[in-house]
Amino acid sequence: MAVKRDGQWLLSRLDFLWSNYFADVEQINPVFIEFGRFARLRFGSIRFDPRSKHTYITISGMFKDEKIPQEIVDHTIAHELCHYVHGFSSPRPRSHHFPHEGGIIKKELSKRGLGGLYQSYQKWIKEYRQELKQLYLQKRYSR
Ligand SMILES: [Zn+2]
Repeated sequence: MAVKRDGQWLLSRLDFLWSNYFADVEQINPVFIEFGRFARLRFGSIRFDPRSKHTYITISGMFKDEKIPQEIVDHTIAHELCHYVHGFSSPRPRSHHFPHEGGIIKKELSKRGLGGLYQSYQKWIKEYRQELKQLYLQKRYSR
């Protein structure tokens, strides 16, 4: 039976990744994860609420679709977790000036044994961009 991709499922993916690949990273504040609106280009984001000291990870509603491989969802969550580790949108000290400085996410993922996830994503995103291009072309000419 297929697992329904809801908030609970998302939380189970976050738990899985955290306990298996980020176990050395102490969760020093409450971290929440949820599906956001359907976004075709921005798959994930992480923000910190300074008042509540909570961290919120939002994943594109597009990823509720089971046609998107689970690895791609996992990669997006792991990417946001790297920001948390580096002190962006988390109370941890900042390890870099900018969240996407010179390949730091890729390095962090590889260091944690998630290089395979990164590779899968690179392969998928290429095909996805092609599909998206087709979609826009079809829209343009179908009027
Ligand atoms: Zn990022």
